[in-house]
Amino acid sequence: MSTCNYCNKTFTSKYILKTHLERNKKCINARGLEITSQFICKSCDHVSMKRSDFQIHLSNCMKYAIDLEKETYEKKIVEKDIHITKLEQDHRDKLSEKNEYIAKLEANIAKLEAKLEKFENAVVTNMAATTHALEVKSAKASQAPTTNNTTLNTNITVNNVLNLSQEHVKKVLSERLNYNVVYAGQAGLATFVFDNILKDSTGKLIYRCVDASRQMFEFIDENGDTVRDMKAEKLTQSLLKGDVIKLGLEAAAVGWNTENEKLNTERVGVFGPKVNEYADLNRNNTVFRAKVSSLTT
Ligand SMILES: [Zn+2]
Ligand SMILES: [Zn+2]
Repeated sequence: MSTCNYCNKTFTSKYILKTHLERNKKCINARGLEITSQFICKSCDHVSMKRSDFQIHLSNCMKYAIDLEKETYEKKIVEKDIHITKLEQDHRDKLSEKNEYIAKLEANIAKLEAKLEKFENAVVTNMAATTHALEVKSAKASQAPTTNNTTLNTNITVNNVLNLSQEHVKKVLSERLNYNVVYAGQAGLATFVFDNILKDSTGKLIYRCVDASRQMFEFIDENGDTVRDMKAEKLTQSLLKGDVIKLGLEAAAVGWNTENEKLNTERVGVFGPKVNEYADLNRNNTVFRAKVSSLTT
């Protein structure tokens, strides 16, 4: 075994050590000699005297081969990174495009909802106006039933609690419901409930739509618990238990049971479909809950 005094590498023979001392850049430098050759292997510091020898060295040098491989991989990784960055940017661009589109759609929906609410309010107002006009037109205007505007002394409202008890709901309905409400269909009922059941004594709203798109509502029950009301199902059920349909049909009947046959027929023709929609509440509360949603959002 022969050891190089300059780099401590060992070699199997003196001949190979001699070649090492003549051919290794670091050890040539360590010996204080100058290298004139420009053919130096960067991977293993081997110095060749001729270009052809250098070429042969490169094709045999394991370290050079490994370095070459490494370099190729690193290049590929850099390319991949650039590609990934581009993809990410693309995704971000697409995402912000989508978000912009969604924002536009939402703005459109809000506009349409506002329009719909105006339209619904116009319908309700129109219903009341039409009833009134028919009454005025009637020769027996003096006999037309008066609408019930008495104020109720209710005990709904302690600490924002919504009272949906059968007793309370029935009391409000039987004391305040009139045919103008029923003639405006489920939207009319929604406005009535909004005014007479869903507010506390100070006029504060105690039943709110918390998710208009899913028609989800919330209120505080008598135990102080916050209760979710999907599709206003609990509210609708409390109205049904309070005899909302029976009392509504009775109120509607008051509207067309005047002594003037012509007026009665006219009213049935104009308001019949709305009264049917009202009386359909036990099977389909879509119009009712949509109106409650727009009033309590
Ligand atoms: Zn050496
Ligand atoms: Zn080499």
